[in-house]
Amino acid sequence: MKEIYSNTQRAILWLGDYSDTAVPSHPNAVLSRGEVKAAFGIAEDLAADRHHDTPEDREIAEGYRALDALLKVPWWQRIWTVQEALLPKHAVLRYGDTEMPFARFWKAFDHYFAQSYRECCGEYWLDFTDTSSNVISCLQTAIDYRRLLSHDQGLVFSVLISTFRGRLATDPRDKIFGLSGLAGTLVADYSLQPKDVFMRAIRTTITDSGSLAPLLRTPEPDRAKDLPTWAPDCCAKLGPEAQHSWDMVWFGLFAAFDAAMGTKAAMLNPSAGPVLPLQGLLVDEIYEVVVHGICRDRDEFCAMARRWQHTTETVAKRNHGVYPRGGTYKDAFWRTMVGDMILHEFDAQGTGQSRRAKASDEANCRMLWNPNGDHSMGVPFSRDRQFFTTRAGLIGIGNPGPKVGDAIYVLLGGRVPFILRPTPKKQDGATLLEYVSPAYVHGIMDGEVMKEKREPSWVHLI
Ligand SMILES: [Zn+2]
Repeated sequence: MKEIYSNTQRAILWLGDYSDTAVPSHPNAVLSRGEVKAAFGIAEDLAADRHHDTPEDREIAEGYRALDALLKVPWWQRIWTVQEALLPKHAVLRYGDTEMPFARFWKAFDHYFAQSYRECCGEYWLDFTDTSSNVISCLQTAIDYRRLLSHDQGLVFSVLISTFRGRLATDPRDKIFGLSGLAGTLVADYSLQPKDVFMRAIRTTITDSGSLAPLLRTPEPDRAKDLPTWAPDCCAKLGPEAQHSWDMVWFGLFAAFDAAMGTKAAMLNPSAGPVLPLQGLLVDEIYEVVVHGICRDRDEFCAMARRWQHTTETVAKRNHGVYPRGGTYKDAFWRTMVGDMILHEFDAQGTGQSRRAKASDEANCRMLWNPNGDHSMGVPFSRDRQFFTTRAGLIGIGNPGPKVGDAIYVLLGGRVPFILRPTPKKQDGATLLEYVSPAYVHGIMDGEVMKEKREPSWVHLI
């Protein structure tokens, strides 16, 4: 499949037929010729970064309504259309006899997101429902796809799986196979059970890329019990869509840090079975977890941050204010709250970029959990996450799930640390561990643990 699409010079992405033609030949004939022209007209405007700031203009309002309808045609919901759109050199969206290059269409949304983010115009035009938010994540990933390719294939793979796994596939194995042409060398093999496909996808991508990014995934509260903890369950139901976009923040963190100092993942017998043997260094153990549920609003987020701050102050007292890996607890706290990153800064051109936090960002960052702070500062990294402290007095944040006694590891090929849970099970004398979450642990994000020059040991994940 990959070859077919990659060698295609020009691909037509067929969205549907006009509803007002005499005999609609396509079941997706939901938009009239006029609506399609209006929708692509608005998209062309946005691609040229024209701003529509006159909500009373009827023609423009109808254009946006048509664009919204265009994003709801079934083509956007199918898993196989992702490769079809991203692999060919020139893909063209076509509805009836109206066309627009796909690259120009996602340029339109690149501008649309930037306009919405700056709150100048944009955001009141499209009413994103569940259906269109799925499409939005598709377009955002399409926009990011080329940027992502400068990172490792493992990261591209996990971003794609996490973004598109909610799409429709008649066969659950296609949640992997339908995307495998975009990253890695996984070959579609329908003799395998879905469970084996999910495991093989992770093994193959880690082996190919040397990166542990494939371990990143969106939390799966309903995952199958018989699947190893390190493999995604692409059949599991996911949380609300909004949660998903926050989970995506981990991918940005993974690209920005270098906890394992550029090392490649080492895998023992990367053939099969439920055990995934990796190499790494045990850093610490979780000492305290400050449990907090989903933040329903900003007030709850601020209240949660105050509890975390209080916990940090208690640990600081125990350690006489000196953070174990250098610096102060005060500094460690605000940097941990934002994952030491300033996310999606928009420059004059409207291109979203993330960067590492600087000392001068402190005041702005603290406004995120100040009840009287600026409400428009974007989604904080720590929202709906889990705060923890370690035995040595480090502080950090992971996905919901870590427990007291969980181990913090830096694994070869892992650009962020991971939280793993020791089990009573053993294999050849070695303890078997469960995968829990990637983590931001302040003070060990930039290779500090690797610089200790300890000998890595085998870590067996089940
Ligand atoms: Zn504007």
